[in-house]
Amino acid sequence: MDADNCAVACSLVSKTYVQQGSQALAARRRLIKTLLSQRRLPEQGWDDATIEMLLQARRLPCIADKRQLSSRTAPWQAGDGTPFHDAAMMDSNNFLDNVGVGEREARVASELVARRHYRLAHGIGRSGKLDIAAEQPKAAGSSLLAKLTHLLAADALEAAGLREVGQALVVPLATGMAITATLLALRGTRPPAARYVLWPRIDQKTCLKSIQASGFEPVVVPLRLEGDQLALCQQVEQLGADAIACIVTTTSCFAPRAADDVVAVAKLCQQAGVAHIINNAYGPTAAPWSCLQVCSAWRKGRVDAVVQSTDKNFMVPVGGAVIAARAGATQLVERVASLYPGRACMSPLLDLLITLLHWGATGWRRMLQQREQLHSATARLLRQFAEQHGERVLETPGNPISLALSLASFGPAAGPPITFLGSMLFGRCVSGTRVVARGKRAEVGGLAFAGYGAHHDAYPCDYLTVAAALGTLEADIEELLQRLARCFGEFRARQQKAASG
Ligand SMILES: *Cc1c(COP(=O)(O)O)cnc(C)c1O
Repeated sequence: MDADNCAVACSLVSKTYVQQGSQALAARRRLIKTLLSQRRLPEQGWDDATIEMLLQARRLPCIADKRQLSSRTAPWQAGDGTPFHDAAMMDSNNFLDNVGVGEREARVASELVARRHYRLAHGIGRSGKLDIAAEQPKAAGSSLLAKLTHLLAADALEAAGLREVGQALVVPLATGMAITATLLALRGTRPPAARYVLWPRIDQKTCLKSIQASGFEPVVVPLRLEGDQLALCQQVEQLGADAIACIVTTTSCFAPRAADDVVAVAKLCQQAGVAHIINNAYGPTAAPWSCLQVCSAWRKGRVDAVVQSTDKNFMVPVGGAVIAARAGATQLVERVASLYPGRACMSPLLDLLITLLHWGATGWRRMLQQREQLHSATARLLRQFAEQHGERVLETPGNPISLALSLASFGPAAGPPITFLGSMLFGRCVSGTRVVARGKRAEVGGLAFAGYGAHHDAYPCDYLTVAAALGTLEADIEELLQRLARCFGEFRARQQKAASG
């Protein structure tokens, strides 16, 4: 209810009470106004009611219902009494007097589906022309929420240590597809002969597929056990800069792989005139470590785009990514937005917006701090466990999220293969750990890999990885280790049985 309506309400209910109620409404409206004018994360997170006040449209009448509405029904009574700046009500499908006769009028058959989307059904962007970040004429509310999402995402990245973000484009594509979209946008900006993408090896199939899906040819650059960038420099020299579209580096990955030296690669790319895309999938949660690396890379060298997952960083359902670039170097990100063909789903943006408003800057920083503490706790608990079981935690200072526990004490013995330990854990409802055995050969996207899973042809030992990811609790790690201890016991028993039988 706005101020005018409150004034009218005073003729029905005592002025004092209405005024008090009106002040309570105004306090929430001020939060929304501050958000719209400052376009930054609110310092304190909002309660759900305020978030819904910004978003929602409850069941609204269609034109047929409306003929039956008495003339005395105030417009807001058709909804639930929440005031008119509700974004959903600013979209044409929710107008009181809208007659939609086009083929795409945000008609939604199921009430459940309509509610699930807060009646925001037009999506984002504009099919005919412009791009995914363009305003949608039929949907002022959706357009507004989408813009806020891009801005708050930039702010959240800044808070995680990624300074000088010039643009953060939130796309309804998960990380792999967002990398593909970024690579596709690179076409036409590189010499026509540029067909290679140099890619320091990371054994995650998505990464390789994201390059192949863009039509570029991946050149796998092997890692050394003690990382250096020599191999990349040699490749650039050998192939020639004009044959290379870009280098895709990775900052967040399973241990024991370390983050790539993105600063050195950024410098190399600048010298050679080659584009550089950073796969920073869950880098922001490794704040400030990863973001400082990326930040230093885009200050000291060339970084065209940095891609991060929304689910891994912001605890939303899978489906989105943030493609960011430094202020003054946003051409590629803008190209991704403008090449996007057609309209796009808004849900991943809405999920992110709601979550960022729910946390506020304080809540987001707290999440990041808790994750850092969890990493130290996980390392400590894992070391204790390793000592008790004759194993060790692999030294991986270049990886601030994932940890690896050696599985050396099981030796080359009779009994099940070491990967069976992974199945045992999975059977005990532990998900997310990976058991990597030496010597696995794999073919991914037509390319052959030795030692697949370990990011290296010949990693010296078998191991198990554990992630200290955002939202994981110390209790989760403790429970994991208890179940792991039981699995260790059972595995050894099987080995003994196999040896004696
Ligand atoms: C998770 C992850 C991906 C794949 O992300 P999707 O969101 O599933 O596309 C790619 N690269 C890295 C480093 C990842 O961690």
